[in-house]
Amino acid sequence: MIRKEILKDIKRVVIKIGSSVISNKDKGESSLECGLSKDWVRHYARQIKHIQDLDCDVVIVSSGAVMAGRERLGFSRADLSIPEKQACAAIGQSFLMHTYEKAFEKKNIKVAQILLSHDDLGNRSRYLNAKNTIEALLNKRVIPIINENDSVTVEEIKIGDNDTLSATVACLVDAQLLIILSDVEGLYNRDPSFQYKGEKAKLISHVERVNEEIERTAGKSKNRLTVGGMYTKVLAAKKTMSFGIPTLVVNGLDRKVLEKIFSGKDVGTLFWSGKGKIRNRKHWIAHTLKPAGTVVVDAGAKKALVERGKSLLPAGLIKIKGKFEFGKAVMISDEAGKEIGRGLVNYSSSDLQQIKGMKTSAIKKSIGESFYEEVIHRDDLVIF
Ligand code: GLU
Repeated sequence: MIRKEILKDIKRVVIKIGSSVISNKDKGESSLECGLSKDWVRHYARQIKHIQDLDCDVVIVSSGAVMAGRERLGFSRADLSIPEKQACAAIGQSFLMHTYEKAFEKKNIKVAQILLSHDDLGNRSRYLNAKNTIEALLNKRVIPIINENDSVTVEEIKIGDNDTLSATVACLVDAQLLIILSDVEGLYNRDPSFQYKGEKAKLISHVERVNEEIERTAGKSKNRLTVGGMYTKVLAAKKTMSFGIPTLVVNGLDRKVLEKIFSGKDVGTLFWSGKGKIRNRKHWIAHTLKPAGTVVVDAGAKKALVERGKSLLPAGLIKIKGKFEFGKAVMISDEAGKEIGRGLVNYSSSDLQQIKGMKTSAIKKSIGESFYEEVIHRDDLVIF
């Protein structure tokens, strides 16, 4: 019932295709090419054509570049160095696109490559720029195929896994649904590869809230090929849900899975709370930006932020952690260390050290006339 309700007016969907599904030899397929299954990519082209015909925009987030490059360069060991992995991504990405292009062309669908990095998503103007490019492609019925720009992205600031990237993209393009194609049916109540007291693991059909128990159930992946596992999928779903977008984790190795979803069939695990949206910019602050530090607030400031929707003032600050510049995203925590929200600061960390706990009049004396009244304005603030 709930699925039919969600799918009723879907006009835009993001589909994440993982390495584990496109590296799976299909029945009757003689061989993989650079580790990629042309048959599976063809199956997706056919199903995606079906979705486009329902008048729904499709954006793909596809993994597989590093894996294809690894095969192409003949690297068999698991522990590649970072430059080696980046070389694999460079060579594999073009092969990956070539495979998509050939399969989608047969269905008369044009595709385009977009490679994103954390910097593109963390900077407001680059974020909007990426969004505009994707909009222009969708207007022309072209399918953007997105991956992380692995060959040049520095490891420390990588998004890291395409489950997270797909959630960010779903929010970026204001999708109404994120579908993550995995190599299992969805989220199980425990590891489906083990039998427990003779009982089989059960598929969880609907998750309304991603709490600690669900995160624990999802566990951590040990798959060599894929970066994420169920854990990163669950975190991706948590992110999209906070933005008002449902996520479906389904078995991508079912040739008709996308058609089944769009006919309202009960496949996979649906993550959906049914609650409203946070505004786009707020989402960007809460989930896309990496916090550069933490500001610790006292009980009075916490109350003003959480209960009265106020801005954060210097008087409520107790401690500043980390070094950051004006305009950066920071975590806001209470005295017990619990994160209560995030926001963009109007002061650098060194200025904040100087003015923490001060009343407005004292700040004027300390840094002069040109000061901000708020450490974080409520427009730049998200309370969790
Ligand atoms: N961006 C990586 C690649 O295309 C994959 C990351 C992932 O599998 O999550 O190889």
